[in-house]
Amino acid sequence: MTVAAHSFATRALHAGRSRLAASSRATPIYLTAGFEFDDFDHAANHFGTGEGFGYTRTGNPTVRTVEQQLAALESGADAVLVASGQAAVAVALLTVAGAGDHIVSSTHIYEGTRGLLLDNLSRLGIETTFIDDIGDPDAWRAAIQPNTRALFAESIANARNDILDIAAVSSVGDEFAIPLIVDNTLATPFLLRPLEHGASIVVHSASKFLAGHGSVLGGVIVDNGRFDAEKAGHNAPHLVLPGRGGVASVAARHGGSARIAYAREAVAPRFGTTPSPLNAFLIGQGAETLGLRVERQSRNALEIARWLEAQEGVESVDYAGLESHRDHSLAQRYLSGGHGSIFTFTLHGGLDAARHAIENVEVFTHMTHIGDVRSLVLHPATTSHALRSDAERETLGIRPGTLRVSIGIEDVADLIGDLSRVLAAVPELVVT
Ligand SMILES: *Cc1c(COP(=O)(O)O)cnc(C)c1O
Repeated sequence: MTVAAHSFATRALHAGRSRLAASSRATPIYLTAGFEFDDFDHAANHFGTGEGFGYTRTGNPTVRTVEQQLAALESGADAVLVASGQAAVAVALLTVAGAGDHIVSSTHIYEGTRGLLLDNLSRLGIETTFIDDIGDPDAWRAAIQPNTRALFAESIANARNDILDIAAVSSVGDEFAIPLIVDNTLATPFLLRPLEHGASIVVHSASKFLAGHGSVLGGVIVDNGRFDAEKAGHNAPHLVLPGRGGVASVAARHGGSARIAYAREAVAPRFGTTPSPLNAFLIGQGAETLGLRVERQSRNALEIARWLEAQEGVESVDYAGLESHRDHSLAQRYLSGGHGSIFTFTLHGGLDAARHAIENVEVFTHMTHIGDVRSLVLHPATTSHALRSDAERETLGIRPGTLRVSIGIEDVADLIGDLSRVLAAVPELVVT
């Protein structure tokens, strides 16, 4: 098209268009709703087979690059990137379960996930049984029903820093051909790769460590590519039966990758969980430095946890990196390169002491987020877990004096200095 001959409005839209191929070393950001088809047959082929790129909700080269990067970091076969961690959990669960089905979940999970299971999936006819003693394989086994379609847990759980025995729980799942889905947000694939220990699916809030800088939201579902139609087909009729209009089943078309193919074809684009290509770029760029950040954050966290444990005003510190933690040996078995940056500690002075600490920190930022390069602090009992009863909070390890921290990459001396100054005033608040 010779644009020069056209009017102003047309030139504004079509002049300067580039189709030059260039090899950008950084991931190019394809900030576009859709992609022009080469010709008539190209369009028909794209709609027929799903190959190539047509519309960003069903696929985008920037998003695809980051999916492959994150799948590789998690030792997975493939991944689907979505707009938030909540979207990742929702898409993963809707990929394996439907009305009439059942999920067994750890009770030590993110409050948003708990709400999704209790308030939303229940309304769609998907019931959940929660178990407290996640270290006991028999507790998992006992909760499984004929209609159970997934086991769900977090690799490192907030607030008690429980470490999931992934091999033990996934073996229970294997007995019944049920996948174990692990939310690996707190551990990150730098410290732990659940698929290497028997989990089938990993989900993340990429808003946390993967993106790392507290600037974007995102989520990802990573699958091990080992769906076995013969063994698990009875638990996944939607994957092994022919599709609408007699289309070959997902398993017939995608083999071991049937689950992630179904998530990509029939769940994420239908519920519209698509991430912005710009956010995908920022997640991919963040993931490039994941190891450097988590290594430093873990080192800082261990030093701070040890320091806190020795302070008079501190009643307890729940960090799996400490020898005193009840899951320390599991942490030694599953985590390598550090123990993560998120933990809770409890002040003797209860609510008043917690309020004093929150209101007086200067280097720490008071906000509800984790996995940031900056250190963050929150009081769970009056925020994230305010709607729980005292007894439930006690089970979860959240007391009036409990603070949650997410340790960043600052100089650790400045972080300890901040806490030291704040805690110096705390003993006076102890009411006996
Ligand atoms: C934050 C978080 C989520 C939800 O992720 P969003 O990106 O905020 O939607 C899920 N699981 C865990 C463990 C989280 O920390």
